[in-house]
Amino acid sequence: MHPNCRCSTSAYMDDDEYNQWLDSYQDHGLAFEDWKNSVASNGGADIIKLGVGSSSKQGETTRIELGEIDTDKIDEAIQYFSDEIRDRETEIAIVIDKNGKVTQFISTSTESVNIFDVDLDGASITHNHPVSNGIVSFGEDDFYFLQENQNVASFRCCNLEYDYVASVRKDISQVTYNELYLKALTEYSGNDDLQHAVFEELRARGYISYDRISKNAD
Ligand SMILES: [Zn+2]
Repeated sequence: MHPNCRCSTSAYMDDDEYNQWLDSYQDHGLAFEDWKNSVASNGGADIIKLGVGSSSKQGETTRIELGEIDTDKIDEAIQYFSDEIRDRETEIAIVIDKNGKVTQFISTSTESVNIFDVDLDGASITHNHPVSNGIVSFGEDDFYFLQENQNVASFRCCNLEYDYVASVRKDISQVTYNELYLKALTEYSGNDDLQHAVFEELRARGYISYDRISKNAD
């Protein structure tokens, strides 16, 4: 499940299907006008460009370059994109690299999205966990994604109830998910979300910063 899932590279579309799907990508993708307008009304002529650039695909995921934003708008943009994708039925990821370049990854799968051909060093990332997966935090594949990309500045996922935010503080290259999971099973029995418990455990050990933020709290 989740970013960089390595086990599913099927779902080949022929060119006609693919072009048709791309044409209708706005149904799967994101609307930027509201956000652009809100930034503009806050005095921001600081969006350099945001549109639809070149695209490519890998497995079930289509990668679309959306343009660039001013780097001081990255946190705001990540929040905006999270709100745009949290109710989607398939997985979508947005990567904003350290220079403000925005790339969108749209998967036709409910369980994984590939992130590829993007500079992850210092990047901010958000993705959604479709409701069909339950209300769950980062999963095992998210953990291994973080392990392989420890220089990611901010890694988020979101669903209808929560935002989850993590970043690595201490090398996790020797940590195994199974051990954390077993620990979470014993220590956090009764917890509503074991995946959340695993990341809480990781935080308690000082490896990551981690927050689960309720959408209803504000
Ligand atoms: Zn995930």
